[in-house]
Amino acid sequence: MNDLKVKNIVILGGGTAGWMTANVLQKKWQHLGIKITLIESPDIGVIGVGEGSTPLLKVFLDSLDISESEWMPECNATYKNGISFKNWSTVSGYEEYFHPFPCGLDSLTFNYHYNNATQRRKGVDVIANPNRFSLMASLTEKKLAPIPSENFPFNFQYGYHFDSILLGKFLRKKAVERGINHIQGTVESVAQNSNGDISSLKLSNGQTFSADFFVDCSGFTSILLEKTLKVPFISFSDNLFNDSAIALPTEIDPHIPSETLSTALTNGWAWQIPLTNRFGNGYVYSSQYCTQDEAEKELRAHLGILDDDIEARHLKMKVGKTQVSWRNNCVAVGLSQGFIEPLEATAIQFIYATIEQFAIAFEEGGFTNQHKDEFNQRVNMNFEGIRDYIVLHYKTNSRSDSQYWIDNRENKNISNNLEAMLNCWYNIQNLEAELKRLNIATYYTHRSWNCLLSGMGLFPAKENLTPADAKKAQSDLKYVDNFIDRCAMNFKPHEEML
Ligand SMILES: Cc1cc2nc3c(=O)[nH]c(=O)nc-3n(C[C@H](O)[C@H](O)[C@H](O)COP(=O)(O)OP(=O)(O)OC[C@H]3O[C@@H](n4cnc5c(N)ncnc54)[C@H](O)[C@@H]3O)c2cc1C
Repeated sequence: MNDLKVKNIVILGGGTAGWMTANVLQKKWQHLGIKITLIESPDIGVIGVGEGSTPLLKVFLDSLDISESEWMPECNATYKNGISFKNWSTVSGYEEYFHPFPCGLDSLTFNYHYNNATQRRKGVDVIANPNRFSLMASLTEKKLAPIPSENFPFNFQYGYHFDSILLGKFLRKKAVERGINHIQGTVESVAQNSNGDISSLKLSNGQTFSADFFVDCSGFTSILLEKTLKVPFISFSDNLFNDSAIALPTEIDPHIPSETLSTALTNGWAWQIPLTNRFGNGYVYSSQYCTQDEAEKELRAHLGILDDDIEARHLKMKVGKTQVSWRNNCVAVGLSQGFIEPLEATAIQFIYATIEQFAIAFEEGGFTNQHKDEFNQRVNMNFEGIRDYIVLHYKTNSRSDSQYWIDNRENKNISNNLEAMLNCWYNIQNLEAELKRLNIATYYTHRSWNCLLSGMGLFPAKENLTPADAKKAQSDLKYVDNFIDRCAMNFKPHEEML
């Protein structure tokens, strides 16, 4: 047994956040004799959406020694090379672009793209859509998986698509096998000590669970952090307008895509996520601009399913963050600590980053609150760093078919950092240097910023150069095409790899 003050931890909530937290903490602290209990309510259930990831999900699963061959078939999972953004821009040649996950080989062609994008920022008539310069975009167009053959030993980062309910069940099975105490029941009341610390949770069947430390994974209701400890919620609605979503499955294609597709619609955007057995589709929109029925009608028309046979699920989203994620003897992880809308599928990545950063801070402080403030500051910076990049998609749209898109473009509520990055782009300065100066390069790199800003076709009118001068400014596209085509030969069709 340890002689630490923290001997019992209770996690409230058994969604993706709860089971990810349980697995990570169990692996880290089991040897210290800390007992971990997870309580979840079968009556309330989980949110049941969230089917796309970033490469951090692989880091999380690898850290638990869980192989792809074990978890992917159980969760109907597929590989994800990145996200295509369609119809966000109306600029000719830029109606669609692909945002790839970082890939070592793309860094070789990145400089060719950066040169062209910089020339195009100066007005020179050169090709600057990022797709032409990205191996990951090429693999995606050919519906190939991001796993190279053995004789092509380069490292690729990729994400996944998966059934979120099945992933939750899989993680629950793993956590219980590894020693987590699993309780099913609904928490009805929370008791606190005189110093404000949480002392116990009481279930509706009368059972009481005491602990030294609590993790709030109760979803949007944020029972412990917001409701009990009264941490204020800060809404992001001044520059992220979407507050609602609809989810609707359709049949999968025999040639399964290896990307998420994000298509701009009238008052938001539609996702299409390929699993092995179905497409998960949905529409993320703002209820300030259209009703639930109008949104559903538009999504059905977009998907070509006009009948009501397939039922749609309507969801409300609480977009923003709690003022702090850790207060007293409680840390919130997942939707209970906040949520940035799912445009770049960052929530699960955020969950993992929060757990890891919390575990480091808690351990370094000898399982006390010593590093609470630094931790909270870091989480808040993570929120702002990701938020800026998401807002950038809306701010740079060129659609004028609805007030929604016009208001997004004309919105003046953007952070100083985002304003500085836009100025840097328009003034043809160096994106990488500016990200470093602003100390925000860890959230999205200059490659992602360059990809989005050029992918949206955010360029001035073309200069009147002679074709010869324009050609001189252009990167060697023959080399780029040849390089990408040769690399792509080392990859197999997506469905063959599943
Ligand atoms: C439209 C939409 C699309 C999304 N897409 C993505 C995506 O592509 N990628 C991504 O990474 N994320 C995405 N997300 C976010 C993702 O769904 C969540 O981050 C993830 O599912 C984690 O949720 P959670 O565990 O925090 O909450 P939940 O799944 O809501 O779990 C809450 C848990 O708390 C329990 N609980 C609540 N109250 C009580 C109580 N009183 N007693 C006992 N138990 C209780 C519930 O039963 C449940 O087990 C999306 C979210 C939305 C809304």
